[in-house]
Amino acid sequence: MTGFGVLRGMGITLRQFIGTYRFGKWFLKLIGLDEGSGITTVAYPEVKQKHAENFRYFPFLVYDESPEDMRCVACKICEQECPPQCIHITMEKDEKGAPTKKFGRTYPAQFDIDVSICMSCRICVDVCPFDAIEMDNDYEVADYGRGPEMNFNRDKLLKSAEYFGKIKPTEHAEVEARLEPKRAKAKAAAAAAAAKAAEAAKPAEDKPADEDPSDAGSDKGDAS
Ligand code: SF4
Ligand code: SF4
Repeated sequence: MTGFGVLRGMGITLRQFIGTYRFGKWFLKLIGLDEGSGITTVAYPEVKQKHAENFRYFPFLVYDESPEDMRCVACKICEQECPPQCIHITMEKDEKGAPTKKFGRTYPAQFDIDVSICMSCRICVDVCPFDAIEMDNDYEVADYGRGPEMNFNRDKLLKSAEYFGKIKPTEHAEVEARLEPKRAKAKAAAAAAAAKAAEAAKPAEDKPADEDPSDAGSDKGDAS
């Protein structure tokens, strides 16, 4: 029948509306109808919907202890893989052109994402070998301009690993489990390097006397 679909749709809308309220739920149950999920819109911006953990908007850069301790090493893999080419990275270098390091790692002097172009595909996150970039849930980033206002720079993009843990606890736990063995390895290597440096810095008289070279071949017998 012509128009039946429209009436049916309006009936569903009416049922959802009634099902929003306690009395309405009771009434729907009484007449044997499914109470539905009720009104699903909210009075934004006063009320905000809670998003699913895998909701994603634009990417952000992760740091551990402080913003200086960023995980990104400026390898540029994400820049190369970003489909709309909206990431721009420059590695920090000294005056001779050699990469500068902080916390034993290279790092970006410039890391920009033009979010007016970003399509929230998450490819940058998936290709990063260092878990240095993640997807944010913050969608309140609108601005009146579409130029520099939408070009998020390194400092604006940096957010803590703790923040990541709050917005995406499951993914954060997976990343931490992945990073833990790498951190332990790096810690052991740093301790070994420090011990070696301390040994090298000892005064000559504190060091064990070198073996007498004439003793070196004593176990092998006289070759002549
Ligand atoms: S975010 Fe990851 S992939 Fe991109 S430059 Fe930094 S370390 Fe490399
Ligand atoms: S989410 Fe996609 S489009 Fe946005 S910066 Fe990452 S790779 Fe590029």
